Amino acid sequence: MVDWKRIVYVAVVFLCCSFIVLLPFTFGNLMWFIVNLPWIILFGLVVSAFSCFVLAPCFIKTSKASNVPHEFIQVLEDVSLRAGLKKAPKLRVVNSPEVNAIAYSSIFGSRVAITSGLIEQYTLGKLSIDDVKAIFAHEISHIKSFHPFKGAIATSIVSVTDVFSSLLIVAGPLIIAEGYRRESFLVTLMGLCCLGFGGILKILSKVASIISFHYLRSLEYEADADGAKIVTREQMASMLKKIEEINRGITSQTKLFMPEKWTVPTKNRSWFERLFDTHPPTEKRIRKLLESI
Ligand SMILES: [Zn+2]
Repeated sequence: MVDWKRIVYVAVVFLCCSFIVLLPFTFGNLMWFIVNLPWIILFGLVVSAFSCFVLAPCFIKTSKASNVPHEFIQVLEDVSLRAGLKKAPKLRVVNSPEVNAIAYSSIFGSRVAITSGLIEQYTLGKLSIDDVKAIFAHEISHIKSFHPFKGAIATSIVSVTDVFSSLLIVAGPLIIAEGYRRESFLVTLMGLCCLGFGGILKILSKVASIISFHYLRSLEYEADADGAKIVTREQMASMLKKIEEINRGITSQTKLFMPEKWTVPTKNRSWFERLFDTHPPTEKRIRKLLESI
């Protein structure tokens, strides 16, 4: 059944973010925004589809799941079946010592990637098969509810603006230098405009990203709750706690493009830093999971 509440939610997030980043073009003119809405939505959908199905799978460096314990494949198939998916997503591995997993989409279908650290901790007996099942239940819930695409819709226009503003900020001083060299006031002025406009767009993209990151965090609560219907709330909460504890002792040297951070540090983070977290703190996720029992 189509959950209209969730669709309206992502649509509102997209529209709010678009309205904010387009302010320098619209000067706050709501009518202009409404008239051009079909184009804005079309642009957003194209960028989201490209970022979700093409860019993300290219950036997530995975390898084939050849050294994965056989029972993982079985558990993934069971969980997918229980979630109502017709086919289990392909399992991939990311080389990293931390315990982490991510669900993503590609043009060839959905994927679940787990880290080599997760496999290692299971082999060492620090994670049980029930924990692995809870991890898969969370990831499968992301896929079942189209979270990779919804996440892309919420972040796409903000990311495009962020990249565009960075280009302007880099190009501005270069044009100014060229203006000085040519002793051309017009070229220097163009450079200053580039720099100023880039700065404004950068600030607006950061403001809009507060909304899109808030939305991404809401998807985590959703996947926790939906996943808990496949396993149990206690099982999901216990797995979250275990991963947090294990990852606290691991410092990964590998720089990963893996937005699915199971372990956002919960302590010593200012309210400002928390605005840009992709995941809620584990203790809050556990509290939310258990309070509805
Ligand atoms: Zn997640």
